[in-house]
Amino acid sequence: MRPARALIDLPSLRHNYRLARELAGGRTLAVVKADAYGHGAVRGAQALEADGADGFAVACIEEALALREAGIRSPILLLEGFFDADELALIAAHDLWCVLHAQWQIDALERAAISKPLRIWLKLDSGMHRAGLPSADYRHAWQRLSAMPQVDDLVAMTHFARADELDCARTDEQARVFADAIADLGAESSLSNSPGLLGWPQLRNDWARAGLMLYGATPFPGAHAQADRLRPVMTVESKIIAVRDLAAGEPVGYGGGFVTERPSRVGVVAFGYADGYPQFAPTGTPVAIDGQCGRLVGRVSMDMLTVDLTDHPAADVGSVVELWGAQVPVTEVARHCSGSAYSLLCGLKRAPRVYRD
Ligand SMILES: *Cc1c(COP(=O)(O)O)cnc(C)c1O
Repeated sequence: MRPARALIDLPSLRHNYRLARELAGGRTLAVVKADAYGHGAVRGAQALEADGADGFAVACIEEALALREAGIRSPILLLEGFFDADELALIAAHDLWCVLHAQWQIDALERAAISKPLRIWLKLDSGMHRAGLPSADYRHAWQRLSAMPQVDDLVAMTHFARADELDCARTDEQARVFADAIADLGAESSLSNSPGLLGWPQLRNDWARAGLMLYGATPFPGAHAQADRLRPVMTVESKIIAVRDLAAGEPVGYGGGFVTERPSRVGVVAFGYADGYPQFAPTGTPVAIDGQCGRLVGRVSMDMLTVDLTDHPAADVGSVVELWGAQVPVTEVARHCSGSAYSLLCGLKRAPRVYRD
């Protein structure tokens, strides 16, 4: 069997969720969209529900129904609400909570006949300028929804654009815009994502929405007292399947962009961009070889990549190479590749997941 795999450590997931809730000082939705950022939404949600999670958040009804079919009974929030009004019957039937972020959704809800009223999260655009109603329209929409028989109750929410930049004034500005917009609505509210929870403790409110941090990845570029308490959940590893001794001055791999600087031992690892490793990861991107720090060399192929074994004399065919995880922080790999921990984690493909309970 091909040795590429992703080990998923569920105790660490539970640990990170408890930390999120501690920082939130209140209820916390576990964001498990995109198959729980590549970790497997059903297994992840089951592990957290058994541990008493407050609820889950996903991107669409397909993701929510997969959780309901697997027996998840907790609240599930649809972060983008419905894409088509014909989803509303299923949303009601499966007791899903529904974000409304655009005027057309409010109009469609008003026209819909549904079996029971819904819990609606009305999203304000407090400055990110992606989804959400502008401040000028927010209160009117709120009042309209409050009067609709299709609405059971309302939660106010917004989303931060730059909470991962700890010295950026925009996050406080967004929080202020949000506070002004909901000032006398007497509503429950939801503000923080992972960087908000970890980096902006003064901005707590009723409901946090934690994604990335559940999976043990820090949203920040450097050390951070709270983020350093997270435990990586996914460890991606494979094995060396061939070893090559090369003289100095020899090219390695497609394009020959990397040329050995010295007499070298190069190991071939069964993992490539078809498994979700970044195709343009440069020479020098960190890996761990049998637990020792090492580096990628040469261009990443579809099914293989190459690592420098010159300083790892004990490594050979069969040695374990970690691409990211417990020893190689995914954020570090992302930094070398000008990518993000988000895209690396949810980009995992082909390599099977192996769970530890
Ligand atoms: C994805 C998402 C989150 C989670 O963000 P993280 O940075 O991963 O914690 C929270 N809220 C909304 C609206 C989202 O779309």
